Amino acid sequence: MGSVDLTNNVKKISLLGATGSIGRSTLDIVARFPERYKIVALGGGRNISELVAQALRFHPELLSVQDESGAKELAIALKERGLSIPIMFGQPGAVAVATHDSADIVVAAMVGAVGLEPTYAALKAGKDVALANKESMVMAGRLLNEIAAANNVSILPLDSEHSALWQALNGESERGVEKLILTASGGPFREFSIAEMAKVTPEQALCHPRWNMGPKITIDSATMMNKALEIIEARWLFDVIPDKIEVLVHPQSIVHSLVEYLDGSVLAQLGLPDMRLPIAYALSHPERLKLDLPKLNLAEIGQLDFFAADKERFPALKLVRQALKMSDSGAIAFNAANEVAVEFFRRGKIGFLEIAEIVARTLDQVDAQEFTTLTEILDFDAKIRQSLLNSGI
Ligand code: NDP
Ligand code: MG
Repeated sequence: MGSVDLTNNVKKISLLGATGSIGRSTLDIVARFPERYKIVALGGGRNISELVAQALRFHPELLSVQDESGAKELAIALKERGLSIPIMFGQPGAVAVATHDSADIVVAAMVGAVGLEPTYAALKAGKDVALANKESMVMAGRLLNEIAAANNVSILPLDSEHSALWQALNGESERGVEKLILTASGGPFREFSIAEMAKVTPEQALCHPRWNMGPKITIDSATMMNKALEIIEARWLFDVIPDKIEVLVHPQSIVHSLVEYLDGSVLAQLGLPDMRLPIAYALSHPERLKLDLPKLNLAEIGQLDFFAADKERFPALKLVRQALKMSDSGAIAFNAANEVAVEFFRRGKIGFLEIAEIVARTLDQVDAQEFTTLTEILDFDAKIRQSLLNSGI
């Protein structure tokens, strides 16, 4: 009684994938606005030294890592520094971070299908989710939307294209939307022939011309699987039929996506390619933060280019349409086959073009099925991965 709780206006954040590219950019935003944001829980993977540095800086109430040996290493490192923070590991750890009592919002930035369970748990626990982990929306968009609606919470786009669409849709009626147009940089091999792509090495695929991102999404950008995944992500985030979603190649990555309306007007969001912009928007919406970052100077850039996407050289864009026609099983199989194939490519076991070939073969073997529970989705995902590993691709 009588005292004013000044922490009431501070948004409390649980961050999954804290040690990754999106995780570190999120912490950069949090550090810039300590009066607005506080980290209450951090989830990392195997990079223990980075998580220790983050714990020292942000003083979370809970930490989680990928496995038990990482948890032990973390415990020793924290003790040496005089810090006492509860530590968990594995999926239960990620779920505990996602559902941490004091969190208002969860930034879901783990990479891959492992991000689904914690994202689902966060929504079920009544937390808003700022979603970077597109794979969870690809696998379970219908279910995640249902859980969010049932718990009266929101899934806020963090992916730059989807953030752009969200901003370009602001205040408009859904009925007026003709098309959602996702821009794509085209990746490092935009101008490569198929013969040249056949010889691409993991090192080449890991160099993105515009964005500095984690390794899996960088390879997904090179194959344009990333754009394919983003079509499915947009389908669920904005509840539009897939036929209304198109891809436009834009190498400069300045126009982050566009919405075409019935009257022919097109609204877009522009900005320099820096994930801190969409991250800040997801955290501060409907307000905007004064970000002290380099500003877009169109006069200096001079020219913006746009091209139609080439579905022959980038079959991911054709395959995703096939996957979408097959309902839930198609999207899950598409994502699982891609994750397995990317891992094989990174280990030098398959060539660059085989990534799309493996996804194509997998889709051909799957029947259209709809799933209503998380368990069904996770089981189907595991089945696809196992059959790929058994086939010894
Ligand atoms: P990174 O590879 O840089 O980071 C991934 C994070 O997930 C790391 O913190 C990693 O931990 C953690 N992690 C990985 N596997 C596990 C696991 N089994 N258990 C617990 N934690 C795990 O990826 P990005 O930050 O680039 O991408 C994250 C997500 O955001 C992806 O879904 C991506 O598609 C999406 N995204 C990324 C963008 C970007 O610009 N980077 C843009 C738009 C979307 P550790 O490193 O400690 O092992
Ligand atoms: Mg994107």
